[in-house]
Amino acid sequence: MKKALFILLSFLFCSSSIIAQQSYLHCGQLIDVKKGKILKEQTIIIEGNTIKEVRKGYAQPSSSSIEIIDLKDRTVMPGLMDMHIHIETMFDKNVYLKRYTKNEADVALAAIPHCEVTLMAGFTTVRDLGGTGVNVSLQKAIAQGHIKGPRIYTAAKSIAITGGHADPTNGAKKDLLGYPGPEQGVCDGTDECRKAVRQQVKNGADWIKITATGGVLSLARDGYRPQFTIEEIEAIVKTAADFGIKVAAHAHGAEGMKRAVLGGVASIEHGTMMTEEVMDIMKRKGTYYVPTITAGRAVADSSKIEGFYPELVRPKAAAIGPKIQGTFAKAYKRGVKIAFGTDAGVFKHGKNALEFIYMTEVGMPMMEAIQSATVSTADLLGVSDKLGSIEAGKLADIIAVKDNPIEKVETMLDVKFVMKDGVVYKEVD
Ligand SMILES: [Zn+2]
Repeated sequence: MKKALFILLSFLFCSSSIIAQQSYLHCGQLIDVKKGKILKEQTIIIEGNTIKEVRKGYAQPSSSSIEIIDLKDRTVMPGLMDMHIHIETMFDKNVYLKRYTKNEADVALAAIPHCEVTLMAGFTTVRDLGGTGVNVSLQKAIAQGHIKGPRIYTAAKSIAITGGHADPTNGAKKDLLGYPGPEQGVCDGTDECRKAVRQQVKNGADWIKITATGGVLSLARDGYRPQFTIEEIEAIVKTAADFGIKVAAHAHGAEGMKRAVLGGVASIEHGTMMTEEVMDIMKRKGTYYVPTITAGRAVADSSKIEGFYPELVRPKAAAIGPKIQGTFAKAYKRGVKIAFGTDAGVFKHGKNALEFIYMTEVGMPMMEAIQSATVSTADLLGVSDKLGSIEAGKLADIIAVKDNPIEKVETMLDVKFVMKDGVVYKEVD
């Protein structure tokens, strides 16, 4: 009996290793993001969803049944990772009304193309920093292969104070307002804040997002002022840490940002009015800065269009948007850790790579910009053991562009090959 079981088990294990599909990727140029170098003529050997080996030269498989993917005139790099997107949303001037007319299924179905276009743009992993909570279902649908999209880490619904940036009832008439509480991601005081975190985790969040200051696009008058006490932020961070979960903080003004960093958040989003004092505390605490320059530019542009934003939002968009790129330049030069993030959803999904152009425009070398979207993002997510570089043992998330991006940044906007988890989603073109 024991022997029969042994034979059965060994058969199962052996056969599964035989079945695991192999492929050989012949890469003309391969970016070693860890060393910050471009290697010539390399072969990546994939088995199943894993990188088995990276070999010098164009290695030939032992069997003709193993597929060779020809990327000899392409530049190959790890799948890109965007740390700040909103997969559910595509911002237009009707967005405030849609909140009251769309059911969850409407939101989910409308988001399917956002998922697909993001993956096809070479972003194989994203962190969703807040929606209605439908993002949790989208995460599952992608993981189960029902729809095409990036691997999603999600904060489900952002957590805010009453009337704060992510209070979903801001600006609504009184009988539509209700009184959202911790269950809806709105909390005041440390007890409610703990409950709000636990509720989001229960709902499926694997990150927590808080709005530590006012924001641009909410129907509230202030964009800068602090919106949580430091005690509340500490309660949120500690409660999340008990689940092994980290916290991201949206922040435009310096005081709220400082409280968030001192309170222990893992990343500051936007960071518009970041002072040198805050930068230095971030360096000391190892806090990442996720700049979202692209969103800043997009809202500044849209604010010039008559009627695009409600009058309450328009001056905030015009004032805050254009400042982010300058803040990024200063923070980068001062040595703050940068993780790539765009706020896609505020602008068109799939255009995430614009951020590379804006980062390099103000002094970040392109190799470092690529590292910020691979090595650093994997570190922020705590998944450096399986994502962020092309090395044996890591998941096969691999993309290719036409030209050398160090010489031509724009090539990042035209991704020619996408593999995620060992599956080819965009054939070489
Ligand atoms: Zn955002």
